[in-house]
Amino acid sequence: MTSTAEIQVRGLHKSFGANEVLKGIDLEIGRGEVVCVIGPSGSGKSTLLRCVNLLEEPTKGQVFVGGTELTDPDVDIDAVRRRIGMVFQQFNLFPHLTVTENLTLPQRRVLRRGKAEAAKVAAENLERVGLSEKADAYPASLSGGQQQRVAIARSLSMGPEVMLFDEPTSALDPELVGDVLAVMRMLADEGMTMMVVTHEMTFAREVADRVVFMDGGVIVEDGVPAQVIGNPSHERTRHFLSRLL
Ligand code: ADP
Ligand code: MG
Repeated sequence: MTSTAEIQVRGLHKSFGANEVLKGIDLEIGRGEVVCVIGPSGSGKSTLLRCVNLLEEPTKGQVFVGGTELTDPDVDIDAVRRRIGMVFQQFNLFPHLTVTENLTLPQRRVLRRGKAEAAKVAAENLERVGLSEKADAYPASLSGGQQQRVAIARSLSMGPEVMLFDEPTSALDPELVGDVLAVMRMLADEGMTMMVVTHEMTFAREVADRVVFMDGGVIVEDGVPAQVIGNPSHERTRHFLSRLL
């Protein structure tokens, strides 16, 4: 079965034992669209994101990325996953490798790129995130914001079609958040398809094409930022937003 949306989720359910965390999620994200997912802690945002690249296996329902059904038992999941970049709250860089080595290792291991090509791609992506001068540094010598930008550059070096972000700035000191959001804004402007779980409402307002509000494992509201953040139709959304202020 095919789909024209870049990301499509149909009737997605996910349970952990008796705990049903996702209770029927339907979501479409078009090519080049930026969708921010907001909602209270425990509402299932991370689980949804993790189902979109099959880090979690859905209990029921379908997930398509770029027209390929990930939930098809015959799919080459490693091949599909290469098309999906994921950035977590914790950056998970290898501490014993330099910044460049962190970027070249997955390219060489997973994509089988040669040394020179991997280094070239790494340099290009370090430049995109404004960290060319840190190429030979070790992660521990970088700020949290710089480490997260390296993690984004590492993802970009794999040439993903879509990027998933799970609270990429939540672990950062407030003064470091802006640089990371600026990189994400650049990616959005370049036309990257993005799904971003975030509590940064200014980013959601200014960058997202759509905002999805989740609560209790369902999508309560899905619309343009001016509607979902600016003029929510549901009491649960209003309550959530009022607590963020
Ligand atoms: P959010 O990201 O919105 O805070 P999560 O998707 O992380 O929410 O979690 C939703 C619910 O699923 C929580 O009750 C959490 O305890 C549960 N959960 C998430 N991952 C697992 C797991 N691997 N095993 C068991 N329960 C989990
Ligand atoms: Mg989460």
